[in-house]
Amino acid sequence: MRVGVLGGGLCGLAVAGYSRHDCEVLEADSRPGGHCQSLVQDGYTFDVGGPHILFSRNQEVLKLMLDLLGDNIETCRRNSKIFYKGRYVKYPFENGLYDLAPEDRFACLYHYVVNDYPAPTNFKEWIYHTFGKGIAEAYMLPYNEKIWNVTADQMSMDWVEGRVPRPPVEDVIKSAVGVETEGYTHQLNFQYPRSGGIECVPRAFARKCRKIVCDFHVSKVWREKDEWCVGDGKTVKRYDRLVTTIPIDNLLSALPGVPRHVLDACAALRFNSIITVMLGVARQDLPMFSSMYVPDREYLFHRLSWPNTFTPEGAPQGCTAIMAEITTNAGDGVHELSDEALYAHCIEGLTKMGMVDADAIRFKAIHRTKFAYVVRTFDYATHLKTVLDYVSSLGIVSVGRNAEFEYINMDEAVRRSLEVVKRIDREWPIAG
Ligand SMILES: Cc1cc2nc3c(=O)[nH]c(=O)nc-3n(C[C@H](O)[C@H](O)[C@H](O)COP(=O)(O)OP(=O)(O)OC[C@H]3O[C@@H](n4cnc5c(N)ncnc54)[C@H](O)[C@@H]3O)c2cc1C
Repeated sequence: MRVGVLGGGLCGLAVAGYSRHDCEVLEADSRPGGHCQSLVQDGYTFDVGGPHILFSRNQEVLKLMLDLLGDNIETCRRNSKIFYKGRYVKYPFENGLYDLAPEDRFACLYHYVVNDYPAPTNFKEWIYHTFGKGIAEAYMLPYNEKIWNVTADQMSMDWVEGRVPRPPVEDVIKSAVGVETEGYTHQLNFQYPRSGGIECVPRAFARKCRKIVCDFHVSKVWREKDEWCVGDGKTVKRYDRLVTTIPIDNLLSALPGVPRHVLDACAALRFNSIITVMLGVARQDLPMFSSMYVPDREYLFHRLSWPNTFTPEGAPQGCTAIMAEITTNAGDGVHELSDEALYAHCIEGLTKMGMVDADAIRFKAIHRTKFAYVVRTFDYATHLKTVLDYVSSLGIVSVGRNAEFEYINMDEAVRRSLEVVKRIDREWPIAG
């Protein structure tokens, strides 16, 4: 059975790499990897789609990814902060209350304990109900509204479990009086490739694939007799079955005759894009953390990270690598800023925060990712079902972060891909 796999990110590569079918991956970019591509240049290593660390509650999948990396692994312990009123507050915020000024510490703890917000109906109410007014207004609300680029009352709360840390009461109280606690512990220790950035993971999957065709932008998908035809405007490829891992938006644009209500449902699914600004600084004496969350609206970036804290190969000796991530949507003004304007904003902001020295910047790069974050608005589940049911009714199998339009990390992306492998190897006849 000839299987066309649309998209050569982690999922496309995992499906094609592990299936017994005759799979061919069609990737629009000049190399596979998708969200997990890395930029290795001038001694710096950046994950261009945002910093990617390896962690999971699913030990089986984590082991599979780590085994693929062999001995190319660094193990790190998180040292993340929140930049609040000029202070470095330990992450997660509620485990770092002692780092606040005494009056802020009191307000956060008091409202956390004396909290009679009613049962929540949306994400904003969930934040107040779970953390109280102090933590909500100092950090949780401004940070989340910055990263999601919508007000929190427009978001549902059915996705927060396991994603937004929710600490035990005693930990919050301990943290406010100065007793060390750790939150979100499944992410406390993580792995990262020593050389080559996170792209080593998709590259390891790619080595298992028989056929990967790059520079093939799937622009047309149609049926002819018993075959699926896939075109990029120049070449037509023919398959018995299709697995899609490309953004659903891109798939629907390539399919003929998609019903209006399906197109409308897809258009109503909200996503955020991300711009990553990568800087190399010829100094090593500036503050450096695994990551830093920046709720303050004065800065466009919501998160900073230092790749050379993941691996010594993240920056040349004596230098520091720093990445700023900016959430954006077409039409919001930020999306439209030129690269030069974005560099200027980040360098000025980071200099003001004491994180870089503008005169010591030796490396600059920018990357724009269109489909970065799925935004869980209220109608998300209904619209998503309409779209995915339609794709499935055509006999096309969808898997992946943007193909299934779900906020999933690499571990879940790989787990789902291996489930798809089992399913298609069981349900579709294997040739020969
Ligand atoms: C900012 C950010 C930070 C993240 N951090 C982490 C982290 O720390 N740890 C973690 O585990 N996970 C992290 N993730 C999640 C991780 O990146 C994804 O779960 C994973 O990469 C999804 O892989 P995928 O194959 O589903 O999608 P993708 O990587 O998007 O693959 C889809 C592929 O399809 C291709 N494509 C698109 N359109 C077409 C077309 N028309 N024709 C042909 N090809 C096409 C794309 O070029 C791409 O290669 C993060 C994600 C983001 C956005």
